[in-house]
Amino acid sequence: MQLWASEILYLGRYSLDTRFAFFSGTADMNKVGLATMSGVVSDAQTRFVKQYLDRGVSSGDVSGMMLQVYERHDDNAALFEREFGKGRAKVACKQGCSFCCGQRVSATAPEVFAAVFYARLAMDSDELDRFRVKAGETAERAALQGAAETFAERIPCVFLEDGECSVYSYRPIACRSETSLNVKLCEKGFGDLTVKVTKPENAIVKAVAVGYIGALGNSIKAKRLDGRWYELNTAVAEALADPDCENRWLDGGKAFNRAVYLPEI
Ligand code: SF4
Repeated sequence: MQLWASEILYLGRYSLDTRFAFFSGTADMNKVGLATMSGVVSDAQTRFVKQYLDRGVSSGDVSGMMLQVYERHDDNAALFEREFGKGRAKVACKQGCSFCCGQRVSATAPEVFAAVFYARLAMDSDELDRFRVKAGETAERAALQGAAETFAERIPCVFLEDGECSVYSYRPIACRSETSLNVKLCEKGFGDLTVKVTKPENAIVKAVAVGYIGALGNSIKAKRLDGRWYELNTAVAEALADPDCENRWLDGGKAFNRAVYLPEI
């Protein structure tokens, strides 16, 4: 695939800054490679989050910062798929599809705070009480299980409501890194443990998500904040139960004390 300099510069102006301009003349995306592309995306986003945090973020700003990160991710994923994915199969994942939402999900602290912020906004006090109970019960199950057991049991994500993600705009990057090309294979693979299914994914969109996952961890750690990856259900339950989590994180402390800490992803 040939990518002309003008297109590269267009991409740079669009959202990735001018790092793409180092390719001169034409660039062959197959030679440039997905790892390089992912690295460029990651560098640009690391700077974005660091600059945002440098300005001084208060408790109420974290969800706003994450919404911008997510919008940039989605814009870049769509742009890269459009520009570099000609002739390749499109991502089949979409709002309302939830076959993969019974897996263990890793999220950084600001991703958890943003999703909880959004969930709270959408609920009245009775709904919030019920959600707290549901989150506590889901966290108890999730805390006892490793990734394989979570998958085997299909522990439904706390944010699943009637088979749909209730925080879709605020779902973590790990959820956005699901880039299946075939929803029927997802249904088979996630629905029936006796069937071994390898689902093909869109490597271009996946590379963008991987870049963002790296950027989030790097930028948070560069600010000497807690950049650990936590199991989503247990972290959500703790964020709901302990309103100090977010301020503790912003002050440089450990965001969660009871949530399951996951190794680097
Ligand atoms: S946050 Fe939403 S997309 Fe992610 S696992 Fe939970 S329900 Fe699914």
